[in-house]
Amino acid sequence: MPTENAFDLISPNTVLANAMLRTVDMVRPRIEATHPDRVALCVGAQINGAPHLGTALVQTAAFLLAKAVKRTFNVDAIVRFGALDNAPYDIRLDPETHHAYQQTYFHALGAAKIGELIETYYRAFFDSLADATGVDYETETYTAQQADPIFRHEFLATLGHFNSIRWPLAPSHGQVHLRFPCPQCGWAEKRAERTRLAVVGSGGAEFSAVCTDHGDYKVAITPDSTAYLDLATLYRNLVKERVAARDHITLCVMIKGGDWAFGCQLIDEAFAHLPGSPAPPRVFTPMVLTDTGAKLSKSLIREGKVAPPPGAKPWMLDTTMWEGTIDSLVDAMVWLVGRMMSDPKHFYRSYTTQELDRLMTTRPRSAPTIRAREMNLYRRYFDLVAEGRKTIEVRVRYPNLRTLAPGDHIRFVCGRDECLTRVTRVAVYNSFEQMIDTEGPANVNPDSPRDQQLASIRRIYGPEKEALGVLAIEIERAGS
Ligand SMILES: [Zn+2]
Repeated sequence: MPTENAFDLISPNTVLANAMLRTVDMVRPRIEATHPDRVALCVGAQINGAPHLGTALVQTAAFLLAKAVKRTFNVDAIVRFGALDNAPYDIRLDPETHHAYQQTYFHALGAAKIGELIETYYRAFFDSLADATGVDYETETYTAQQADPIFRHEFLATLGHFNSIRWPLAPSHGQVHLRFPCPQCGWAEKRAERTRLAVVGSGGAEFSAVCTDHGDYKVAITPDSTAYLDLATLYRNLVKERVAARDHITLCVMIKGGDWAFGCQLIDEAFAHLPGSPAPPRVFTPMVLTDTGAKLSKSLIREGKVAPPPGAKPWMLDTTMWEGTIDSLVDAMVWLVGRMMSDPKHFYRSYTTQELDRLMTTRPRSAPTIRAREMNLYRRYFDLVAEGRKTIEVRVRYPNLRTLAPGDHIRFVCGRDECLTRVTRVAVYNSFEQMIDTEGPANVNPDSPRDQQLASIRRIYGPEKEALGVLAIEIERAGS
């Protein structure tokens, strides 16, 4: 049945269809309840090779949801990318016990190689997404996360409730897989068969474990110790979400592939056993399905256990196979996910590879438009830019702004109003003071005295953001 717009989506009504008007409304209840200063859309991916369509879809959705949050709720929003470098790199069996031992990507490759993998597979895609959506992003590895005293403190706090949470975290047997890699070789018993909690006190805990090559060993976990803490998936997410729920300045929203909806039921069950805040809001993105209704699995195809499903183009299994530039892949993904987000009925559902192929091959190809970064401004600043009275915009040096250069375009947005500008100069400073005294306070904001400007900038950006470097971006109005 040919229709006028072959790329139109048709989705049935679901439970949510009559409850919400916009896809982004999933975040609204918590924003209305807590009025956060900013929102972080948190998205993770295992660092274990080239990303497939499912990964690209979740990540694109995180950026587009951040953009929608900025526009709908007039609050700053960023994307926080968690690179899961504790994904298993290698697994071997203990010759006597036949227990499986595993080595993480981090332990096999080291921090420098992990950094290279992130550069290779994600940096260009994220920079392009940041450009296309005007949303800044930050990156953190699991290794950095587990080393953070706040994360370790939160883990230790759960141990006091271990007997209740071990059932939701391991519902079939109650044996939670806590992995503490051997300090000598970095391998750990995958299912933690011989890992025991020896002592738990107010400031820390001691575990004992067994290495195939190095025998019995003990590991002390305190907020400040350096022993590696490798938690199984559900436990890791519980601790991560507990940390996120403590942040009362930034509202963290977890963006997860649709198959997580089942796993999160168990995390909620564990949350219910712990004192304190409820779980942060979560948005589940559309799943990519094969013709049997199963989630598209690259590893099953690679291992030859299933054939590629109908419509599964090579780039869907490995986005580096996309025939075109990264920017054109991002433009296509932004179009696709944008269509899905146009109605909650289209977003809170799944898609087969065949349907996605149909959508992608019939999508309208418009001539490339000017790529402009989008930046949100409060009304008082927006009006100054639109009147040409504010010629210096101030930002901290997020990774995606490192490439900002004269000649680039920035579209400033406030509600429904937009103002396109061209960058004429970019200067980097070590501090906000240095920036404002060199650039002149009147160019940053002609209506506000220097000290007041500094105070309001510092309210938005804490010292750890200022440490990234301060950008003064000189702009001029550009056509329409
Ligand atoms: Zn060992």
